Amino acid sequence: MSDCLVIGGGVIGMMSARTLALAGAKVTLLDQSQCAQESSWAGGGIISPLYPWKYDDLTNELSIASQQVYEQLCAQIHEDTGLDPQYLKSGLLMMDEFDTPEAGAWLERHNLGYDKHPKGALFANIAQVRNPRLLKALKADIVNKGVNIVEHAKAEELLVKGGRAIGVKTNQKNYTADHIVVCSGAWSSQWLSLSEKIFPIKGQMIVLKSKPSEVEHIVLDQGRYIIPRKDGRILVGSTMQKVGFDRSTDEQTCQALHQFAAQRFERLANATVEHHWSGFRPASASAKVMLGRHDEFDNVYLNTGHFRNGLNMAPESAKRITQLITHEA
Ligand SMILES: Cc1cc2nc3c(=O)[nH]c(=O)nc-3n(C[C@H](O)[C@H](O)[C@H](O)COP(=O)(O)OP(=O)(O)OC[C@H]3O[C@@H](n4cnc5c(N)ncnc54)[C@H](O)[C@@H]3O)c2cc1C
Repeated sequence: MSDCLVIGGGVIGMMSARTLALAGAKVTLLDQSQCAQESSWAGGGIISPLYPWKYDDLTNELSIASQQVYEQLCAQIHEDTGLDPQYLKSGLLMMDEFDTPEAGAWLERHNLGYDKHPKGALFANIAQVRNPRLLKALKADIVNKGVNIVEHAKAEELLVKGGRAIGVKTNQKNYTADHIVVCSGAWSSQWLSLSEKIFPIKGQMIVLKSKPSEVEHIVLDQGRYIIPRKDGRILVGSTMQKVGFDRSTDEQTCQALHQFAAQRFERLANATVEHHWSGFRPASASAKVMLGRHDEFDNVYLNTGHFRNGLNMAPESAKRITQLITHEA
């Protein structure tokens, strides 16, 4: 029996497992396939909501608190594992919507500003992580910290005794624990009944092979973005498709994303598309993160529904769920 069972090995599950282990809990993390292969792998790694004023207060609160610790957290994980998550303060150049009254009011409320740039507004403090590397490092880190990872163990239902959850039944065997933390991303409603349904919103993304410094900042325009990695690779995303768990990618989207990048940086027109993939954002009708206790079982905790912002909200979401379990808050 573990103190805590974490269901799902994306960024939310692994960061939750890390903070719980650091708080002294005996943690088992289950994943239905392998950790670090789903939305958290597929994402762009921008450590900020795209247009923050379009999100609710909790999303911004979790995001701003996470932004304050991300650099140090990545440095710590790098030091502890030897794997570099490549935290990079590349800044974000917003080409549209920064001058709306809504944006102005939000920036004033948060006492934030931007630098004027010939092409828009430069938010110089916005950073990115190389999310597949962050996940690889996180996985190594939590194993070092004593978390027991069990892959190919799919949670099928809660085990309930006398009105209390005592564990989960999986396709392998039953696991029992004092506390169960649901971090199953877009699949959360597939195995557990929730007050609000979580469903997948597919995002397609491409990566272009380019030279370092071809693009200096993350660029955001018309809801789409261009993310320059340190080694010259450039990610371009993304789509928002409500098509269930259909992983397919299509040529038309690949061309549209490539064209979006080439229209802003002419030289990218001839860049090779190295890879094209999709991922499932965990969405809900309210688009609000679910962070707290389950309605019915007070030892089942939800840390899911992070939609477009799971990478940037992960550290603070993990901290808060840990505080709730350890009664610190
Ligand atoms: C194209 C794209 C771009 C994005 N860009 C960004 C960005 O730039 N910045 C940002 O902050 N966010 C971004 N996001 C959103 C972000 O990726 C997600 O919000 C985040 O990854 C959600 O993390 P998660 O751990 O909840 O989900 P996931 O990473 O999907 O992990 C869920 C895990 O749970 C496991 N699981 C599911 N069901 C079960 C079960 N029954 N039993 C056991 N295991 C189970 C799955 O196998 C999976 O490993 C992007 C997403 C996409 C798709």
